[in-house]
Parts: sequence; structure tokens; C-alpha cells
Amino acid sequence: MSTITEKDKAFVWHPFTHLKYAEKPINIVRSEGVYFIDDKENKIIDAIASWWVNLHGHCNPYISEKVAEQLSINEHSIFSGFTHPNAVILAERLLKHLPANLGKVFYSDNGSTAVEVALKMTLQYWNNKDATRTTFIAFENAYHGDTFGGMSVGERNVFNNAFSPLLFDVERIPLPTKENLDDILQQLERICGKGNCAGFVFEPLVQGAAGMLMYEASLLDKLIHHCRSHNVLIIADEVMTGFGRTGTFFASDQLNNKPDIICLSKGLTGGYMPLGVTACSNEIYQAFIQDDKTKTFFHGHSYTANPTACSAALASLDLMEEPVTFEHIARINKSHLQFESEINKHEACKDVRVCGTIIAIELSTSDRTHYLNNAAELISEYFIKRNILLRPLGNVLYVLPPYCITSAELDYIYQHIKQFLDAYLKR
Ligand SMILES: *Cc1c(COP(=O)(O)O)cnc(C)c1O
Repeated sequence: MSTITEKDKAFVWHPFTHLKYAEKPINIVRSEGVYFIDDKENKIIDAIASWWVNLHGHCNPYISEKVAEQLSINEHSIFSGFTHPNAVILAERLLKHLPANLGKVFYSDNGSTAVEVALKMTLQYWNNKDATRTTFIAFENAYHGDTFGGMSVGERNVFNNAFSPLLFDVERIPLPTKENLDDILQQLERICGKGNCAGFVFEPLVQGAAGMLMYEASLLDKLIHHCRSHNVLIIADEVMTGFGRTGTFFASDQLNNKPDIICLSKGLTGGYMPLGVTACSNEIYQAFIQDDKTKTFFHGHSYTANPTACSAALASLDLMEEPVTFEHIARINKSHLQFESEINKHEACKDVRVCGTIIAIELSTSDRTHYLNNAAELISEYFIKRNILLRPLGNVLYVLPPYCITSAELDYIYQHIKQFLDAYLKR
């Protein structure tokens, strides 16, 4: 057995991958800026920030250097009974950017655990206060990760079908529009009136995995306001929307009513290393300060607050704080809007939408819009042949690039999307 691809087939099980029909995986041997380089020396442009994580380009020299330095200082140390400078400074600096009502940072490993921690923290907050509030409110089509809590608050679909008997029930509400807002508020009144709602969890402004579904901050604000009037805790899953994706540092910056808990991961380390953050209000934290030892938050992971991952997050934050980064974000947004106006009348498009650095193009298909829509393979194949990584969500293709992408590189992607749309009509 010789090649990596052959050994891959022999030894490795890949995520979200059909074991019978999936194409052979592409073997990435290097990465640089917005490009992956495969074993045939193809330069593949990364239009989706490598699963929505990369912010400042691959092998960014600044972050790489900081991470390399950290590896000879303290690669990893236990985080219970011990601390280290990176975790503390990172918490302090994140809290400066997060809404002012948030006062504490709890670390974990990834987006799913950041959400899992938020759910457990919420339930135990009420438990510690001797209140029986055990129900969550969540949106239709939500995605909050692949752990059992994350799956439970997420939409029931092909992703979690096999586990559905074991997932806990939630109160499900539709994404708000101007038309259905009053209905949802009435629905919330009924739900909250039961008095058992612990928290309202949502992806603010953009539901990523659902197909980049976008909704207005002002509408979300009204829902939050209503939930809060019933003392329901507000949980923003900013795993995808954090760190500039929606045009502001956090999507929550566009809300008047700030969340009690914010979950972060993906862009947190600039796409370098796994790390999760669940930031909460001091009020939540206070509920855990008790003489009774059983009120302790018994949750943690072996790699909690890994110092090397924290060094990547600190370096990425340094770059986020450079004015040029938000100039890039504004430039990408402007290009997306321009491109949207060019193609939104195209016959192949059912809908084109933009939020911050994300543009999503929903193709008209005979089948309904969903993840297993057959257009997905067609789209992937078309673009990868042209050395563009554009992994669609069913019939929704989207561009969500690293912020260092140049305007010429964006145009290159747009041109190919236009050609694809024409070809798609003629097929
Ligand atoms: C990706 C994602 C998650 C899960 O994060 P992982 O790091 O993949 O576990 C949770 N919530 C949202 C909104 C996400 O986009």
C-alpha cells in the first residue's frame, strides 16, 4: 500500500461523508493564504474558509510564529486548580469585545462543546436557584453542533435521525419575518406562560448549516425582549457568526438586547486550533457561588483552555484589532452586494442574500431546498474541477472567505459562479 489516498481509504473514517458514493478525498499537502495546495500541485482557492474557521489566511506568518513560540513555553497544562497567562489574557481581551453584560469566560474545545456548556450552565443556573425550568426555545432549521444537547436544540433532520428517540424536546419557533412576527410573539407568550422555559438559543442573524438563512436583527431583538420579560436566559450561538463574519465583531453587536450567554469557536483561533468559549453574565456566574458543593459546575475537558490554542486565539485577536481587517470585511461585503445585484435576477437563482462577508445563492431546483438536494454534488464537482473549494449546503452555494482574500480573487470566484449559473440553466 503506497499512496496517502489508498491509506486514507484503508484506515480513516471521514466526517459527514458517504462511505459508498463519496469521491476520493483531495490530499492537501500545504496551505498558504487563501490557497490549499494538493499533491498534484493544484492551487485550490478556499472560498469557504475551510469549514468557516479561517480568518486571516492559511499559515499566516504572524499566527504561526506565535503558536511556534508557545510550543516551547507551555504546550499544555491542566486547567483545574491551575491557570496560565494565555487563558487569562484571552478572557480579558475577549470580554472587552463582547457585550458589556458578559463577565466570565468558560473554555472548552469546539463549537459543539461551547453550546453544550451553555445548555448545561443554563439548566444548572435554574437548578441552583431551585427553579424547575428545563425547556429550551429554539428556531426551526437550527444547527448547534453534533453532541446530544446540540442535536436536541437543533432541527430534527437526516443529521440526527438515528438519535431522535434520545433527544430532548424543545419549543420550536420559526425564523422571524415582518409577516410572521406577531404570530411568533403570540406563540412565545403561550410557551413562556408555562413558566418552565430555561433558555432561548439561536444563531444570531445567520443560520449557517441550514443553508445560510438570514434574518433581521430588529426582529430577533423583539423575540429576545419577549423571552427576557419572562426571565428566560438568552443564548447566542456565535460559533459561526463571531469575529467579523456578519460585518460587526459579533453578530450580537447588532442587537439592542444583549445575550446572557455567547458561544464562540470556529474563528476564535483564526482557524488554527480547536478551542471553544462560553461567555456568560456575572449574574449567571453568581448562581454557582454557594457553600453547597453540589452546586458546582461539574463540566470540563482534558484540553480545556489549551495554552497553544489560546496563543493562536490571542494572535488572531491581534490581527482582528488591526484596522485593515475591518477594511477587508467592509470591502468583501461591498463586493458581495455588487455581485448580488448582478445575479439576483438570474433564472437559475431562487434567492441571493448577503450578510457581512457571506453571500449565499440558493439555486432553483425541482427538489425542495435541503442538505441532501442532488444539486450539491453537481456544484462541488463543477467548482473543484476549476480549483475552487465551494462546498455547498444542498442547493445553496455560498462564499465565506478568509478576510485576506483580494478583490481579484473574489472576482475570479464570482466569474466562475456566473458561468456555473449559465451552465446550470442549460444542463
Ligand atoms: C459549526 C457550528 C457548531 C459546531 O461547532 P463544531 O466546532 O463543529 O463542533 C455549532 N453551532 C454553530 C452555529 C456552528 O456553525
